[in-house]
Amino acid sequence: MIRHSALAAAAATALALAAFAQPPKEWAIHDMNRPLPRVVDPGTASTADQPGRPPSDAVVLFDGKDLSRWRADKGGAAGWKVDNGAMEVVKGTGGIHTEQPFGDAQLHVEWRTPTPASGEGQERGNSGVFLMGLYEVQVLDSYQSRTYADGQAAALYGQSPPLVNASRAPGEWQTYDIVFHGPRFGPDGALLRPARATVLHNGVLVQDNQALTGPTAHQARPPYKAHPEKLPLGLQDHGNPVRYRNVWVRELS
Ligand code: MG
Repeated sequence: MIRHSALAAAAATALALAAFAQPPKEWAIHDMNRPLPRVVDPGTASTADQPGRPPSDAVVLFDGKDLSRWRADKGGAAGWKVDNGAMEVVKGTGGIHTEQPFGDAQLHVEWRTPTPASGEGQERGNSGVFLMGLYEVQVLDSYQSRTYADGQAAALYGQSPPLVNASRAPGEWQTYDIVFHGPRFGPDGALLRPARATVLHNGVLVQDNQALTGPTAHQARPPYKAHPEKLPLGLQDHGNPVRYRNVWVRELS
């Protein structure tokens, strides 16, 4: 019986892999019948003073007005404050997460660390973008401030340092543009493929389709544990009044 269920699990895994491997329809070159991509208004870029307008097909998670799409990790309404078009971490209220779950997605987040800067290393403007609530892209004041490489701004925390340090000075708005593909698990919970992240920090490529080793932890690299294909997106309260604005996501099919 054990042997039979192991075979069934292996067959199910093979089927799941085959579903990934299905080749797209082959089109002849310049075939006029080939369906055209959907039209999307790309919006506008942000300036130092003014957040840009998100693409027309984005799910806007924060537009500067309210936290209606966010919940406190501790339960209930998000306890961060909204002021002057930005939301700000309120120390001790805990992390917040979106009501809506997301999986594979393009994500845009703008953030700024406190000015004047205070604290050193990991205590200087620390927050974080938690993809699926599990995988952290570090937010930190890494402008002329030293910490361990896999914990500086735009690191996949504890795993992968950014390719370069593209940080702006504290008090200046910075951008993350993230393309994330979540991990996939077989019916038996086995990892079929790891999560991958591409990150542009202030428009500069800092994570290039980088595989994650598992969920983010402190001083540990735990292995993957099977989870749904969509989970809420989180922002971290690390005790520093980091601000966010213009947060939007586009789900990838
Ligand atoms: Mg952090």
